[in-house]
Parts: sequence; structure tokens; C-alpha cells
Amino acid sequence: MKQSSYAPFGRSVGAMKFARPALWLTLTLLAGACKKSQAPGDQLDAGKVAEHAAVADAASAEHAQHADPAEHAEHANPDEHGEHGDHADAGGAPAEHAEHGQDASAFTVPFVDQQDPLEQTRNFFKDALGDNAAFQREHDPDFFKAFASSQKPRVTVVTCSDSRVQSTAFDHAPENDLFTIRNIGNQVRLNLGSVEYGVRHLKTPVLLVLGHTGCGAVKAAMGDASHESEAIRHELDGLALPKGKDGASGDDPGPWLEGVTKNVHDQVAFALTTFAEEVRTGRLTVVGAVYDFRNDMKRGAGKLSIIDVNGITAPAKMQAFERLVLGLPLLAAAPPSAKRPAPPAASAARSAELKSLIELRDELRKATTAAGASSAQVNAP
Ligand SMILES: [Zn+2]
Repeated sequence: MKQSSYAPFGRSVGAMKFARPALWLTLTLLAGACKKSQAPGDQLDAGKVAEHAAVADAASAEHAQHADPAEHAEHANPDEHGEHGDHADAGGAPAEHAEHGQDASAFTVPFVDQQDPLEQTRNFFKDALGDNAAFQREHDPDFFKAFASSQKPRVTVVTCSDSRVQSTAFDHAPENDLFTIRNIGNQVRLNLGSVEYGVRHLKTPVLLVLGHTGCGAVKAAMGDASHESEAIRHELDGLALPKGKDGASGDDPGPWLEGVTKNVHDQVAFALTTFAEEVRTGRLTVVGAVYDFRNDMKRGAGKLSIIDVNGITAPAKMQAFERLVLGLPLLAAAPPSAKRPAPPAASAARSAELKSLIELRDELRKATTAAGASSAQVNAP
């Protein structure tokens, strides 16, 4: 059964809509939730369904004061709602109501399809309540006790608000682990107070600036944002990106990706200046990364690529950094078939990798040693 043509209260809906919008929305949401709860695979348990039904009944009683009681009663049963909806889906609504000598248009409700904002609202909260119930079932009370009185995250994360970017891509247990700041374009300066809170009050050892491919904020900043509102333009102004002739709107993902990576480097550089003392004394490592759900970087869709560690940005060094933190051997193991000497190109590549690892190790040591390194050295590429 579709959700789209559910007409819970017949012709009185129109009057309700204008006379008592809040009650109308409440009734519709509640009655709709009651109906949807019976769908296969529904996550709400029987108790919740009964609870919804009870509330809906109470609401219906109030509604009855404003509508024809007989007509309301006829439509109050959730099963009948479904039946009613099915008729309407099949184009039978006009005929059905015509039988009663009523104007079919009077039965039209705003919930005409799944794209209707109110239908989406109802569906979202149905999902949210169901998911939350499942979350509660899956988590022991001790899980929450562990961080009920205080938080001890390891990472302050500054990432884009983009809905496609979620911490589940890199942290399966983000609770008490990620102190997250989000805005359009993953900007440090824009919410500096929040970032500082994570770094200086919660003392996270990592500040992660996480950009992403396909970033709309980057694209807007690279193009013409003059049509945006003042508030949006104000936030885009923080992105120091080259204005392209047509921004990043071409088929070639290159310019857009360059904008995304440049922005991450810019944010890291700003953070290194702001938190120079924490970095210099080894209390903080500032890392820039790009989450690539479009596979623009050709490392696989969904890959999180580290592109900047305390201002060090050379790609070979970033790969070396990944190997270091993963505890992988400094040199890749020789393939089984490679009994013969490696060709000169491969040999040279390995030498370069080893050199970068050693350089990276030294640079990181410099950046994280209390004595010595100045913030200028930390920022050296
Ligand atoms: Zn974005």
C-alpha cells in the first residue's frame, strides 16, 4: 500500500488545515505513523504501535468535536485507511466518493507523494524513532555509563555539513571519540571557538580537517556565488579558492578536486598557526584528509586519504605516514614472482619510498619535539 493517498479525515481536512494547523499536522502524523507501523519490516515493536494508536485515538476524540462524528468514525480504523488509500491509488477515489455524492476534490490531502515535505517529515521521524529504539536495544546501559559524566574524545574533527560525509566511514564507535564541528566547507576559522574547545579544553591529541570530493561549498566558492544570500556568502568568503570561468562545474573532476584539496591544506595551515604551541610541544597533530565517495582520487570509492600532516603534504610522505600508523613494514614485501632483480624503475621507487619514510619520521619528530622546531619548520611542506 502506498502512503501517498492517505486521506485520514475526509472532507474536514481542508478546514482543519487552515483552522487548526498544529492539530491537523499532529493528527496526520500520528495517524500516519499508526498506519505505517503495520508495514512489513517495520522497526517499531508492537508496544510502540499500541502506544501510537492510543495517542491517535485520543487525538481523534478531540478531532471529533470539530467534524462529523459518523464520518470520522468511518475513517478512524487504520485498516480502513489503508483500504481507502488503495482505492485512491488506483484512481478509485473520485468514484468512491462520487458514490456518496461528494466532491472528490474535498478529499485531497497535501500528502500527495513521497517528495511532499510533510510526508518526508513523517517518514524521517518514523525512521528516527525506530532506529533509536534499535540503538537502545543494541547498547547496554554500561555503554552509556562509560561517558555519562564526562567526555574524552581523541579527535577534534572539522568536517563539511554534507550529508554524504559521515563518521561511520572511518569510526565505527564515534561516541566519546570524535568531537565534531561541521559547517559548509569544513572551515576551522568559521567555528574557531568550538575547535579551540576541542583542542584546548578537551585536549584532543588530533585535529582532523576532513574535506570531501564533490563539495558543494567548494564549488560555489570557485564559481559565482553572488546569487546566494548574505549569510551563505559570508560563510563561503572563508574559502580562499581561485575563481574559475565556470567554477568547478565541468565534467573534469580535476579543478573541483584541486579546490577541495587546496581548501583542506588552507584549513590545516590556519590551524597550525592558531595552535602552533600545541603542535610544537607534541600535544597536537593537525591532519588534513579527503573523504572520496566519488572516487575522484582513483583510490576507490569511500577512501579516506590523508593529504596533510602538520603541513607536510608530499603524496609519497602521506603514503608513508599511512604505512607508519598501520604498522606496515617500511618497504612493501617483494611479490612472490619477483625472484629476479627488480627492474630499475621499481627499485628506484622503493628507494624513494624508504627515503620519504625516513624524512617523514624525522620531520614528524621535529614537529612533535618540545625543544627546537619552530612553527615555521612545522609549516614547511
Ligand atoms: Zn562539502
